[in-house]
Amino acid sequence: MIYHPEKYKIPDRPMEPFIDPEEIWSYIDGVKPTRERVLEVINRSLNKHRLSLEETAVLVNTTDPELVELIKQGARMLKQKIYGNRIVLFAPLYIGNYCTNNCVYCGFRISNRDVERVTLSDEEIRQQVEALEDNGHKRLILVYGEHPKYSPEFIAHTVRVVYSIKKGKGEIRRVNINAAPLDIEGYKVVHQAGIGTYQIFQETYHPGIYDKLHLAGKKKDYEWRLTALDRALEAGIDDVGIGALFGLYDWRFEVLALIRHVNHFEAAYNVGPHTISFPRLQNAANIQMDKQWLVSDEDFTKLVAILRLAVPYTGMILTAREPAHIRDEIMQFGVSQIDGGTNIEMKGYTEKKEDQDLKREQFEIHDTRSLAEVIDELFDQDMLPSFCTACYRVGRTGEHFMEFSVPGFIKRYCTPNAILTLAEYLEDYARDGLKEKGYKIIEKSLQTLPENFRQGVVKKLERIKHGERDLYY
Ligand code: SAM
Ligand code: SF4
Repeated sequence: MIYHPEKYKIPDRPMEPFIDPEEIWSYIDGVKPTRERVLEVINRSLNKHRLSLEETAVLVNTTDPELVELIKQGARMLKQKIYGNRIVLFAPLYIGNYCTNNCVYCGFRISNRDVERVTLSDEEIRQQVEALEDNGHKRLILVYGEHPKYSPEFIAHTVRVVYSIKKGKGEIRRVNINAAPLDIEGYKVVHQAGIGTYQIFQETYHPGIYDKLHLAGKKKDYEWRLTALDRALEAGIDDVGIGALFGLYDWRFEVLALIRHVNHFEAAYNVGPHTISFPRLQNAANIQMDKQWLVSDEDFTKLVAILRLAVPYTGMILTAREPAHIRDEIMQFGVSQIDGGTNIEMKGYTEKKEDQDLKREQFEIHDTRSLAEVIDELFDQDMLPSFCTACYRVGRTGEHFMEFSVPGFIKRYCTPNAILTLAEYLEDYARDGLKEKGYKIIEKSLQTLPENFRQGVVKKLERIKHGERDLYY
C-alpha cells in the first residue's frame, strides 16, 4: 500500500509522514535493552520526561521478568508520585450501530447480516440516559457506527439531547464522542454542541495490515483516519483521544506508533493527545480472524505500563473489555479513567438480559459489574472514585496535562472535586454500607489536603449533605 502523507495536509501545519513502518521497525530491531539502559529510561520518565521512540523501544524489547517487573514498578511509582489514587468513572452509550464499513474484527461491520441495526430515537436516548443517571453517572462517551445517518448535525443533536436530560438530581455533565472521522467543518458543528473529548482509534498503525483488515467503506482510507484528529484540533476541539486496537498486529509496533502519533501532535500543535486508549481485541459476532497477533495478559499488562511511562502526561482509559482482575492490576499503573456498570448492547441500559447478546453488541465485554460494585471494589483498594467534570466546564481544557505539569494542581482542583462529586454520588445513589465506606475514603482524602483548602472543601461537603449539588473548584 502506498502511503500519501500529503493527501490530507492542513495548510500551515507540519504534516510529515509521521508513521513510517520501516522507521518503527528499525527501532524495534535495533535496540537491545540492558539492565542499565532500562533503569535509565524508567528514571527519565519518573523525572517527568516523555520518552523518545528509541527509549520506548528499550522498554518494549525488555523480556527479562525481573526487568519487566521494574517497568511495572516504575509505572506504579509514576502514578503514586504524580496522580495519586483518583480514578474517574464514565459509561459508554451506543447511539447507533448502522455502519457502511467492513472492519473484519467488528460485530457491526456491514457484512454481518445477523446484527440488529438500531439508531436510538430522542425518546430512546432519554430512556438510556435516565437509566444511566439513576445509577449515578455524570460522564458519558457516545458511540456511533459510520453511516450517512450519523452526520455531524445528527451527532451534535444527540449530544444536546443527552445534556438536556435531567432526572431527579441526575444530569450528564460531560459528553465525549467516539465516531468516524469528519472534515473540519463537521468537527466545528460537533464542537459547538459542547463535546468534551473526541476519540478515534487508528486500530492498527501499520498501513499494509490496515488495508487487509478494512475491506470496504470510507474507513478503508488509512490517511483519512490517521489525520482525523488533526482536523478536530484545527476545528477547535482541544481534547482528542488516540488509541490502537491491540491484537491486530504486533503490539510493540503499535506502542511505538502511538508514541510517534504523540510526537506529531506535539510538533504540529504543541499539545499531546488528551487520552490514550488501548482496547484489546475481543470476541464479536461471526468474526473469523487471524489469531497470530492476539496479546497475552502478560504482554498486555506490560504494554500498558510502558505506555504510562512513555507518555507520563496523558490520561489513560481502560474499558470493560477487560475482566475485573486485569483491570485491578492495570489500574495501579496510572489509569485515569475506567467505565463502570457498562452495557454496550443497543438499548442495553433499559433492556438488561442475563447473558450478553452478540447480535446487539459490537464485541463481548468481560467486566459486567454494576457501577456500585465497581465503586465498592475501588474503595477496597483505597482508590478515590471521581465524577469530576469541572475543568472542561470552566474551560480548563487539557486537564490531564495540567495535573502533570502544574505544581499543586491536583491538590487544588482534582482531589477536592473528586471528593465533592463522590459525596454527591454517596448521598444520591449509594446504599448504606457503601455510603459509610465512601465517607471513610473521603475523610482519608481530606487529610491529604493542605489545611487552608481542607476547610473550604469541608464546608462544601456540608452544603452537599444539605441538598446542594454541582459544587466545584
Ligand atoms: N465506528 C466508529 C469507528 O470505527 O471509529 C466508532 C468506533 S467503534 C464503535 C469503537 C472502537 O471499538 C473501534 O475503534 C475499535 O477499536 C473497537 N473495536 C471494534 N471491534 C472490536 C472488538 N472485536 N474487540 C474490541 N474492540 C473492538
Ligand atoms: Fe463500523 Fe466502527 Fe465497527 Fe468498523 S469498527 S465496522 S467503522 S462500527
